[in-house]
Amino acid sequence: MTGSVEVVCGPMFSGKTEELIRRVRRAQIAKQKIQIFKPALDDRYHETKVVSHSSQSVAATPVNSAVDILKRIYDSTRIVAIDEVQFFDENIIKVVNKLSRRGVRVILAGLDQDYKGEPFGPMPHLMAIADDVTKVKAVCTSCGAPASKTHRKSTDNSDQVLVGEADLYEARCTAHWDYQPDDE
Ligand code: ADP
Ligand code: MG
Repeated sequence: MTGSVEVVCGPMFSGKTEELIRRVRRAQIAKQKIQIFKPALDDRYHETKVVSHSSQSVAATPVNSAVDILKRIYDSTRIVAIDEVQFFDENIIKVVNKLSRRGVRVILAGLDQDYKGEPFGPMPHLMAIADDVTKVKAVCTSCGAPASKTHRKSTDNSDQVLVGEADLYEARCTAHWDYQPDDE
């Protein structure tokens, strides 16, 4: 069997997790052996589930690092899905390459950009090596247009990783995304 890498990316609230769950459910219908992972860091909704903002969910294994994924893969696994992949360290690239070379279909969902519009962690590399990249859009909370940016509501913290939800973040179109790099 030929392996492959698929990336689903976009801003927060764009339906990345919904799309990952849709692909996972279709694989389950096809009775293909699938394993789902997420970074342990992301415990916003549930520790052992991937949950979308529309409350859909699938069971997932939380892992602390990319290499932990490899340790947990069964020989019989045909599909590996990973949500919030932007939170993993650079080793995720090796892990993804190894899996696809072994013939595994790898489905990745993650933020392409942080709230400053900068590429997020390993995402640029993963998008480059992917066989297929899907960019999904949210709805701008200011005007309703398609949104490809994530706006951080509070300026108290400028760390790239600040796990939060609608309390901290909003989806915005480029016109209403008001991050000003010159303010730094
Ligand atoms: P992501 O994983 O990209 O953050 P999810 O798949 O978890 O997104 O959630 C997508 C769902 O979020 C939509 O189907 C919708 O129900 C809800 N939602 C809430 N706010 C927005 C928004 N501003 N734009 C689009 N969807 C939104
Ligand atoms: Mg998500």
